[in-house]
Amino acid sequence: MIKALPSAPRTTARPASAEAQSPQKTQPVDLPTIERAVRDILTAVGEDPNRPGLLDTPRRVAKMYAEMFAGLHQAPERHLDVSFPETYDEMVLVRDITFNSMCEHHLLPFTGVAHVAYLPSGRVTGLSKLARVVEEVARRPQVQERMTQTIADMIQDRLQSSGVAVVVEAEHSCMSLRGIRKAGSLTITSALRGVFKDDPATRSEVMSLINHR
Ligand SMILES: [Zn+2]
Repeated sequence: MIKALPSAPRTTARPASAEAQSPQKTQPVDLPTIERAVRDILTAVGEDPNRPGLLDTPRRVAKMYAEMFAGLHQAPERHLDVSFPETYDEMVLVRDITFNSMCEHHLLPFTGVAHVAYLPSGRVTGLSKLARVVEEVARRPQVQERMTQTIADMIQDRLQSSGVAVVVEAEHSCMSLRGIRKAGSLTITSALRGVFKDDPATRSEVMSLINHR
């Protein structure tokens, strides 16, 4: 099993930089503007937005976008503010955290699972908190590469752990429904920090645990 490397004394205080990285949290989702835009799109594709079946569609789509992009108005790292002193210093891995996100290039969903591992150095967080971070980061328009890095950096900043590994596997509907139309293809991204990046044995241990089915 893995032993974490010794690390510097840590504090639970928020690093100022993490706050600066958070997106604007004051601007609410403007539902009427989305509704107008959806009506315009329906008209532009040759539909009649006034036919009965479409009357409520702009309102539904506006609510859907508010939900899918709720993470823009949240600071997912806040879930990691509460951590507990613990002498356990070996790997913690939460595997197969399901998520739904939205590709920023096409505004089409990409869905899949995230695997999140960290090496505690004196403090652990609740396991469900890792899933909450994934859930909220996912609800933003983005690319999978950046989502993977954002999750890893939030955990590293807040828990000051010896290492963090995040692997994301997703199917992109912009690849399966349109364009090249390759259904079933999986995109895998990883972000490694600390010991997971620097020590090949630790890295191969987390990768084998993630890939073990
Ligand atoms: Zn796309």
